[in-house]
Amino acid sequence: MKKICTKCKIEKNLEDFPYTYHKKKDGTPGGDGHRANCRSCENKSRKKHYDTRPITRMMMNTKARSRQRGIDFNLEYEDIIIPNLCPILKVPFELGTKTSYSFSPTIDRIDPNKGYIKGNIKVISMMANKMKNNATREQCEQFAKNIIKYYDDIV
Ligand SMILES: [Zn+2]
Repeated sequence: MKKICTKCKIEKNLEDFPYTYHKKKDGTPGGDGHRANCRSCENKSRKKHYDTRPITRMMMNTKARSRQRGIDFNLEYEDIIIPNLCPILKVPFELGTKTSYSFSPTIDRIDPNKGYIKGNIKVISMMANKMKNNATREQCEQFAKNIIKYYDDIV
């Protein structure tokens, strides 16, 4: 069976349209059991949706990673606030689709021994998060003190 995608207007096989559980008001299955937009149109709009909603993206990524690694997680949307600049690198965040994710916002655990829990997180850039990694406050102090000397070759 063939069907025309309502978005790209291309005729494709029914299998190229994602399944849907849409039901009519009386509870009987609605339509042909497939979405009106083809899979590639659905994927495109999902990606667009995802890229333009950084908080949703951070929540989903962080929650999934916490579960995999057994880290506490109790954040809600209102706990995540994206400041104008990365508080560590003082650069603007880059949102949306791009080739480099260095300055995309990420959720950082202030105390890496605690989880992604209320009061222990801030939004910082991906680069700052990678630089900080799992370092403690003391390790960050050492790093900040010595990194300039390191470049000046006096360590
Ligand atoms: Zn399509």
